[in-house]
Amino acid sequence: MLDNNHRSINYLRLSVTDRCNLRCIYCMPEEGIQFLPHDEILSYEEMLHVVRLCVQSGIRKVRLTGGEPLVRKGILSFIEKLCRTEGLEEISLTTNGVLLKDMARDLKRCGICRINISMDSLKEEKFSKITRRDFYREVWEGIDEAQRVGFSPIKLNVVAMKGVNDDEILDFARLTLKKPYHVRFIEMMPVGEKNAWTSDTFLSTREILGKIRSLGSLKPVGTGPLDGPAQRYILEGALGEIGLIGALSHHFCETCNRLRLTADGHLRGCLFSDRERDIKTPLRENKGDDCALDIIRETIMNKPKDHGMNVNKPKKCVRSMNSIGG
Ligand code: SAM
Ligand code: SF4
Repeated sequence: MLDNNHRSINYLRLSVTDRCNLRCIYCMPEEGIQFLPHDEILSYEEMLHVVRLCVQSGIRKVRLTGGEPLVRKGILSFIEKLCRTEGLEEISLTTNGVLLKDMARDLKRCGICRINISMDSLKEEKFSKITRRDFYREVWEGIDEAQRVGFSPIKLNVVAMKGVNDDEILDFARLTLKKPYHVRFIEMMPVGEKNAWTSDTFLSTREILGKIRSLGSLKPVGTGPLDGPAQRYILEGALGEIGLIGALSHHFCETCNRLRLTADGHLRGCLFSDRERDIKTPLRENKGDDCALDIIRETIMNKPKDHGMNVNKPKKCVRSMNSIGG
């Protein structure tokens, strides 16, 4: 389905929970987090219902996110059912990797096509500082296991932050020479009122690319219609790829194909816009599929044209990243 700005909206990011076993500095505050009450969170049945209606409205690809999707009880059987949804072409997962080692094989069996894993440092101590938890080894074991059971490509998401992990940009880029990973550098975004974003820690994809060019020639890689917003490159002789996601500086709103469903059942057209529609209440009040379809279609039609921000004009949206679904 096309929105009012002629973009084809075919990709749903589905937040299955706002809970998480890490507390990344760019995503959640250390303390004082108000988690959603359990009965406010969509049940798996409700999620499957909304996904089926989204498919009727043109969604072809779903990414599970959160919070940390793997901490929600019963996630595997939900994924199994989700993967049987007629009309869905691709179901992928973004995870912090902490629980991946024991779940990778089942995730593959259930039908997950791709996995993105957050990994912001190659140094154990720094990883603990960024995530405020000590799970560095578990995450790497999870990454290894995901590779072993056949996930390919494995994408590693690195939120780039000046003064935090900018000294590791080249190490991450070099990793693609030895491993078939797709390392994706993501500009830190000002999401959530208690987010640690400041212009001092902001590192643009232009600066990152400038650093990486010192390693040798970079071959650009083309993108397909269901692909995401990364500018992609391969270093000469590399097994993997480098991706740059300039969420703030080089914003990709013109080609954004995303719709989001929060864990508490609100549909959003844009990560940064606080405009959202409640789809859970009409479903729980048995208002019927036509009413829910109207909400989905209205959210798609009125998807904001762009987020209207740049590094000098940031805007913190009210909800935090873990509750919207990153
Ligand atoms: N817990 C899972 C994880 O960390 O991969 C999934 C949810 S997390 C919110 C999804 C993605 O959003 C992660 O790759 C994370 O690094 C990214 N993210 C979270 N907060 C961000 C921020 N302020 N700026 C940029 N990326 C962010
Ligand atoms: Fe948890 Fe992912 Fe947010 Fe980190 S980025 S706190 S792992 S939801």
